[in-house]
Amino acid sequence: MCGIIGINSNKPVSSTIINSLKKLEYRGYDSAGIATLYDGLIDEVKSEGRVNNLEKNSLVQSMKGTIGIGHVRWATHGLPNSINAHPHSSQYVSVVHNGIIENSTLLKKFLISKGHNFKSQTDTEVIVHLITENLKTENIVNSIKKTLKSLQGSFALGIVFKDQPDLIVGARRGSPLAVGYGPNENYLGSDSYALKSMTNKITYLNDGEFCIIKKDHVEFFDEDGVKVNKKVLELSSEEKSYDKGDYKHFMAKEIEEQPTTLKNGIKEYIDNSNNDINIYNFPWKTNEINAITLIGCGTAYHSCLMAKYWFEELTSLDVSIDIASEFRYRKNRFKKNSLYVFVSQSGETADTYAALDLCNQNNMKTCSIVNVIESSIARDSKFVLPIHCGTEIGVASTKAFLGQMLILYIFALKIGLLRKDIIKEKFTEKIKDLKTLPKLVEQTLLTDNKIQTISTTFNEAKGSMFLGRGFSYPIALEGALKLKELSYIHAEGYPAGEMKHGPLALIEEGMPVVILAPRDSYYKKTISNMQEVIARGAKVLLITNKSKDEVISENIWEKVEVESTNDDLLPFLLTIPLQKLAYYSALKKGYDIDKPRNLAKSVTVE
Ligand code: GLU
Repeated sequence: MCGIIGINSNKPVSSTIINSLKKLEYRGYDSAGIATLYDGLIDEVKSEGRVNNLEKNSLVQSMKGTIGIGHVRWATHGLPNSINAHPHSSQYVSVVHNGIIENSTLLKKFLISKGHNFKSQTDTEVIVHLITENLKTENIVNSIKKTLKSLQGSFALGIVFKDQPDLIVGARRGSPLAVGYGPNENYLGSDSYALKSMTNKITYLNDGEFCIIKKDHVEFFDEDGVKVNKKVLELSSEEKSYDKGDYKHFMAKEIEEQPTTLKNGIKEYIDNSNNDINIYNFPWKTNEINAITLIGCGTAYHSCLMAKYWFEELTSLDVSIDIASEFRYRKNRFKKNSLYVFVSQSGETADTYAALDLCNQNNMKTCSIVNVIESSIARDSKFVLPIHCGTEIGVASTKAFLGQMLILYIFALKIGLLRKDIIKEKFTEKIKDLKTLPKLVEQTLLTDNKIQTISTTFNEAKGSMFLGRGFSYPIALEGALKLKELSYIHAEGYPAGEMKHGPLALIEEGMPVVILAPRDSYYKKTISNMQEVIARGAKVLLITNKSKDEVISENIWEKVEVESTNDDLLPFLLTIPLQKLAYYSALKKGYDIDKPRNLAKSVTVE
């Protein structure tokens, strides 16, 4: 979370920093700030709320510094106000920070005893005073090295020094950080997306490393202060600019882009000529693997849950799923013949990264499914399956969810075939169906108008429920999560068959309940559960697929029909109306759809 930008140039940097911060706002948006060096002084401007507020401040307009750092915050310690906004500065040094300093209370005590005064409630401010303290006796490299060694927790840092008008220091542990190279200027950024408008030449810092960025060159150091050589990567120009186009919100655009997401994924993995799946350089024999554990957080976890059903259907592997923040601290029994799969849009999700790291330390087979291929999770996994869905800016994930599900489905099919768990004919048939999916999603997107009308009822309700069985259950969870995230309406996702064991008590007259009941093998059972909630007064929105047979039920409030396909692929289609429901509910309430309150994309704190 949080966005960091640093620029060392020979032109004034404040407006470029502000523009880059706008690009980083999806990572944090409760406050923003900037510091530049000019004439031997640190100029600092901070404001509560969005980057726009910062930009309006006349002091920012007049900043003349040619070297500076900027930050958009996602508060962990201290209120989201302008005092706690970053940068935090002493007389000598100014710091922007992404992450959490776990031993900040102890360090603060120590620093106060040394005479340092604290202005904010943040954990970050200890870094400022520690560096200031260490600079009394050490040079820049040693003071940074010593400071980093005292810190526990996770951080990405950008630092400027009053007495060093020609350098920015970057450092990371746990949180991502990249360096970019430009003509007579160099940059620091918390992800390549912010740097892409300035350069496509990037170096990623590894955990524990720090760097000194000058205008004409950059030096890298390991945690012991020993110089290291790093590669410069050239990013593809494919996503240099990504904007909203004619859409009101990135989310609306990203929902509509889903047929393309699927087409790209299918093009990348499916060999059209012989209806096979290409997964190159998979480093293990599939008969060496007898179990698979899928790990993620939030929406990515829902894609893992979805994949559990597919892997069980299409392979004979033992399938487990786990929430990364639980997995990383549990007493796991690591098994040699297990494959551990990590799913994350950004590839920087702190909990998922920690779970991956744990598996790597235990010499497990690790594979990741990510959108950002230059990310930490991708770089540290032994095998990567990119989802190729392009930049996703809306904090509530949509196209990346479909992209993750697509790759997981393709992966399950291929493993099933290689292990001879499914026969070639069945495999080919499923590939043929899969190729029709982008078109079916496109048609299902046309349910738009109906969903717009329905969303009003959800907005008036105290709470709502999303129910499904089998393949529809993970989608019920995802639908409820989307509604919560965007429209702040209480929403529970439940397996439909579980209602009678407790949650049925919540149903009261007029409560909106979404029933996901496509005509798959669970259909009849789900319809019975639907009757049970209708009997208790629920207003049921039934989402099913088109069929010549009418649904035999009275008193359904509304019905939305998605296209029809084989059972495995129905979850993709059921997702569409639920994304739209969340979108239109939030739109009607006038909420900030791309940046819902308290949330941020790329969750780099645990
Ligand atoms: N822990 C720091 C704070 O609360 C940094 C948060 C962030 O990553 O934005 O200020």
